[in-house]
Amino acid sequence: MKFGGTSVGDADCIRRAAEIVFKAAKEYSVVIVVSAMSGVTNRLIAAAQQSAGGSREESVSLPAVLLQQHTEAALSLINDEGIREGLIAELNRITTEVGNLCHGISLLRELTPRAHATVSSIGERLSARLMAATLREMGLKTVAVEATEVIVTDDQYLQAEPVMQQVRERCNERLRPFMNDGITPVVTGFIGATPDGVLTTLGRGGSDYSATTLGAALDADEIIIWTDVDGVLTADPRLVPSARLLREISYNEAAELAYFGAKVLHPKTLRPVVDAQIPVWIRNSFAPEKVGTRITTVGHPTEHGVRAITSIPNVSMITVGGRGIVGVVGVAAKTFQAVASVRANVLLISQSSSENDICLIVDSADAASTLKALRAAFANDLVHHDVDHITVNSHIAIVAIVGDKMRGAPGIAGRTFSALGRSGVNIIAIAQGSSEFNISFVIEAEAMRDAVAVVHEEFKLHEVGQA
Ligand code: ASP
Ligand code: MG
Repeated sequence: MKFGGTSVGDADCIRRAAEIVFKAAKEYSVVIVVSAMSGVTNRLIAAAQQSAGGSREESVSLPAVLLQQHTEAALSLINDEGIREGLIAELNRITTEVGNLCHGISLLRELTPRAHATVSSIGERLSARLMAATLREMGLKTVAVEATEVIVTDDQYLQAEPVMQQVRERCNERLRPFMNDGITPVVTGFIGATPDGVLTTLGRGGSDYSATTLGAALDADEIIIWTDVDGVLTADPRLVPSARLLREISYNEAAELAYFGAKVLHPKTLRPVVDAQIPVWIRNSFAPEKVGTRITTVGHPTEHGVRAITSIPNVSMITVGGRGIVGVVGVAAKTFQAVASVRANVLLISQSSSENDICLIVDSADAASTLKALRAAFANDLVHHDVDHITVNSHIAIVAIVGDKMRGAPGIAGRTFSALGRSGVNIIAIAQGSSEFNISFVIEAEAMRDAVAVVHEEFKLHEVGQA
């Protein structure tokens, strides 16, 4: 079971989460993974960045703020003197550590990826102790475990990849014995360590990935991601009020939705569980009586066609174009090499057969650096007008329609684009992978809400989804 930041956001939320664990632990052997209390990771990263700018302030204010927030929750959750004292001593130790780290960073005026990872891990180290202590207070046998002991990763400190075989061995050594003794481990989400013990993080929002990595390593029967929404919906309910909960979806569909902006899951979450076919549930810790969404290999056995629509705002379209690129080999390679050199994540690619331009969509945060890299890579071609223009348009959004059984179903693209046309939504670019379970299109940012609503209506998703 993994609990996200909002599910452990304050004392009340932690109490609710702990009750869920307490009930489950009576029936099954469970391992808990926790995120930092919501907002804490953002705060930590901001403090690290300010310290790197030379500010001394954060090394003093940050430990105090974090200690206050966690102690306040602890005092409300825990009455037992012994448990309380032990916990508060731990909270003190860890918050002091982050103060020292920020102080060091401010002296060096440099934030290395390792230091960045270490500072950003503090939230999970605090919340895991808080959760473990709360469960102990309720009478459960439990232990807080640092994921650095079990999740072995490569050395990409801020986007680390678990090394599955080693994670398996560590889980058997470090977690199984507790579980065999009826002790519930509470593991820090988000973090891991290289084989020689240097702390790493799995990327922002990575606690989901921690949970499925541990679940796969332990051959879990199922994994439950407890969050603050009822499950996966047919569309973002803020855009489409009639959006419905999907009871069952496939790994493919969920991964596609996660990748394309539906914020319920970290995009890598399902990778570890697909081969072992371990079901993953998305459930609401604020409404545990609701069933949630179950993610499996086959998904929904009977629903055909489009199952959900997702949208990504805050993206930018970069176009590399000009007559000189027609028929020239290597332009695409050069383009994507330049994009990769600044580590920008490409969300969508489109090139028409006339080859007049290549367009690609990146996160708007990466747009300026991508543009710069492309202009440098094509500097000569621009001078000779082989490439006429490299432009960026930041007033766009991507909308994607997703469904495993869109494959081989003719007419879906036709219906989608006719419906959009009737509503006056202009399509700027289109992409469909050959897997056929995702059609994505690029539109003006202002048209995003309309586009999602129109397509939701066209495929009557308010009926196929289940309330
Ligand atoms: N606390 C981390 C973050 O905010 C990891 C997570 O929440 O999954 O990115
Ligand atoms: Mg989170």
